[in-house]
Amino acid sequence: MRLLIMGPPGAGKGTQAKGIAERYGIPAISTGDIFRANVKNKTPLGLEVDRIMKSGGYVGDDITNQIVADRLAEGDAANGFLLDGYPRTLAQVEALDSVLEGLGQSLDAVICLEADTDEVVARLAKRAEIEGRADDTEEAIRVRQETYVKETAPLLDVYAKRGQLVRVNGLGSVDEVGQRIASALDERG
Ligand code: AMP
Repeated sequence: MRLLIMGPPGAGKGTQAKGIAERYGIPAISTGDIFRANVKNKTPLGLEVDRIMKSGGYVGDDITNQIVADRLAEGDAANGFLLDGYPRTLAQVEALDSVLEGLGQSLDAVICLEADTDEVVARLAKRAEIEGRADDTEEAIRVRQETYVKETAPLLDVYAKRGQLVRVNGLGSVDEVGQRIASALDERG
């Protein structure tokens, strides 16, 4: 299985990605996690992206594309993967297209977790209390929602036109949503 999971910040992508990856025995690759690990370890990349992430904006396409291209070339991704939080811009869609073409691979489905803005903002505020993520401040949450609507939501049309988009209602318990994703993917065969 070669999958993407998309949806607004706070829709539960990361949590669901782990469950799906386990179910299909594929690695869940989160660009956000890769960036956070670099920030934590104060690598040159981490120092570069720290401020951008805290503001709620997007890291540059070139860096992000390179990280994903390198990661997809690793052995554990050869038989499948789930990309969580990538692509987020049209330039990233094009970069992913060419990486996959180069590897002779194609996507099986693009899962879109749907949730309305009020709900996701409330969830992020709650996560801020629990996890204290640096980009879960009120201002950064607002910027992230706006950036998503402007830069990333249009990508859903691209994948819908390709017949790859699977829309799933992201409201409910982790298990409920997980079940919905599993049945939607099963239906596609
Ligand atoms: P996430 O954990 O997916 O919500 O990502 C957290 C932050 O990492 C985002 O708000 C961006 O600053 C950065 N980031 C993650 N993935 C990407 C991407 N594909 N393109 C640009 N920036 C990204």
